[in-house]
Amino acid sequence: MSDTHELNELHWLLAIVQSIDVGVVVLDRDYRVEVWNTFMENRSGLQPETARNQCFFSLFPEVDEDWFRRKVESVMTLGTPSFTIWEQRPYLLRFKNYQPITGLEDFMYQNTTLLPLKGINGSIDQVCLIIYDVTDVAVNRRQLQAANAELQRLSSTDRLTGLYNRGHWEEMLRLDYARHRRYDSQAALVMFDIDHFKAINDSYGHQVGDSVIQQVADLIRENLRDSDVAGRYGGEEFVVLLPDTDKQGALIFAERLRQAVEAREIRHEQYRIRFTISLGVADLSMPTTSHAQLIEWADSALYVSKASGRNRVTLHEH
Ligand code: GH3
Ligand code: MG
Ligand code: MG
Repeated sequence: MSDTHELNELHWLLAIVQSIDVGVVVLDRDYRVEVWNTFMENRSGLQPETARNQCFFSLFPEVDEDWFRRKVESVMTLGTPSFTIWEQRPYLLRFKNYQPITGLEDFMYQNTTLLPLKGINGSIDQVCLIIYDVTDVAVNRRQLQAANAELQRLSSTDRLTGLYNRGHWEEMLRLDYARHRRYDSQAALVMFDIDHFKAINDSYGHQVGDSVIQQVADLIRENLRDSDVAGRYGGEEFVVLLPDTDKQGALIFAERLRQAVEAREIRHEQYRIRFTISLGVADLSMPTTSHAQLIEWADSALYVSKASGRNRVTLHEH
């Protein structure tokens, strides 16, 4: 190969390094900048003449110096490259994100590579830092994760009340029942239904009916412990699973809830609306064959509450 050709090739390589859309920085052993490409110039606002010979850490005080030094030392000692990815460290250098499409994050997410640069004599006295702008990928990933979490939440909760929907609640009951079978733990179930709810709808309209349902959900939340699992079982039917609770505990909870609902008043136009609930309680102190049996027991106790005058709590007796 002729000298001219080699010179040409060097020239091209320099032009490529200048125009390529990644950051290229060469640092010497004292962390002084030797090469600073156009990407670096544009993103940092520092001209190559200004950056050259400056200490990397004084140019970028946001870089964790101890950590970066350890990384560079090992690259120089081992002679092998090293990488950082945005999932672990969102950025190395805090550059503003100028990409209008993303618009969400105000910094540039970065992957980086540290390459050992071997001199003609074989020793490694420089490293090359390459910075990739991965903001698009990162922001898309973040948005997708947020959307998935929201979908997950929506598919397990009821829109009107924010309580678990029936499917999700039953799944939680199934899991707790399995735990009960394995560890012989206690669990109780409270099931209830709003009394004469049809009359509320008929007298004041569906919107008032809906806000009664929401009020009931709020009252459940106010009376719940963190471990309890509340669900909207049907239109105006609710269920609360009380793990590690026996029937006495469940009866206390149910009675407290009954009183709280009875005491609540809703105002609509000139009306003051009050309403009550009928409750059924069952627990796992008797042998059961499945989690569905607990629901059946609570449901039949609820039916007894309805049949015997409403606004009351009935315990399923075995
Ligand atoms: P009972 O005391 O025996 O429970 O009488 P009830 O009128 O409450 O019982 P019923 O089951 O006959 O009526 C329930 C009504 O609830 C019927 C249905 O139109 C209404 N409903 C179900 N879901 C909703 C809802 O999401 N919003 C509103 N506003 N009404 C609902
Ligand atoms: Mg009802
Ligand atoms: Mg009903």
